[in-house]
Amino acid sequence: MKTDAEGLVIMEKCVGDSDRLITILTKQKGVLRAFVQRPGRAKNGRLSAARLFSYSRFTLFEGRNKYIVDDAQPVEVFLDLRKDIGRLSLAQYFCELSIALAPQESPAGEYLRLVLNALYLLGRGDRPNGIVKAVVEMRMLALSGYQPDLVGCSECGKFESDLMYFLPVSGRIVCDACGCPQGEPAVQLGRGAMAGLRHTVYAELGKAFSFTLSPQGMEELTRASEAYVLSTLGRGFATMDFYHTMVGETGWQG
Ligand SMILES: [Zn+2]
Repeated sequence: MKTDAEGLVIMEKCVGDSDRLITILTKQKGVLRAFVQRPGRAKNGRLSAARLFSYSRFTLFEGRNKYIVDDAQPVEVFLDLRKDIGRLSLAQYFCELSIALAPQESPAGEYLRLVLNALYLLGRGDRPNGIVKAVVEMRMLALSGYQPDLVGCSECGKFESDLMYFLPVSGRIVCDACGCPQGEPAVQLGRGAMAGLRHTVYAELGKAFSFTLSPQGMEELTRASEAYVLSTLGRGFATMDFYHTMVGETGWQG
């Protein structure tokens, strides 16, 4: 049976002598794995359209328990990502996050749009990495059913104060006056980072990446969104660690 799907290749690996197994984040069927058979039998263009970071229209043979790429036409290939190791490693982290969070065998158009927007901005390099990363982390968790409640202090309802705390384990915020519950990790947020964190979750996708922060605000935002990923999913990501190594940052330590 043949099926059409448009999607982004988010992982590739060699299997056997020359076949490859790719993982695709598709609009129609979520995350799926498909074999790309050896180049000798491939149609023109199929191979480049099925490389990592290619966004393509795929025709897939659907067999029992597996897909085989019959044809692939490239729509957009994010080649610019390879020019900068920091952006490249961040893109790989977004791919790993999609594999962990996006559904399988059901539509994932919102996840795909989010990652495509992020890769496009990373390729252009005109948005700070930290903002792109926080938007992808917060929104992907929100899409997966983990939308935090950032409307106001969960104790007294206060919308703003000079200092607020994000509680990554329970996905809520508290103000300085109410204080953090004992024993629960908390990330301190000044006004800028608080507004930024709200923006990552509540803005429309088209505007979600468009805000600026001071260096300190950026550091707080980075800590908050990363803490939310790590405590919600209860695991780390090799690609996230690699990104930190590449850009010389220290991640959230809990
Ligand atoms: Zn309060």
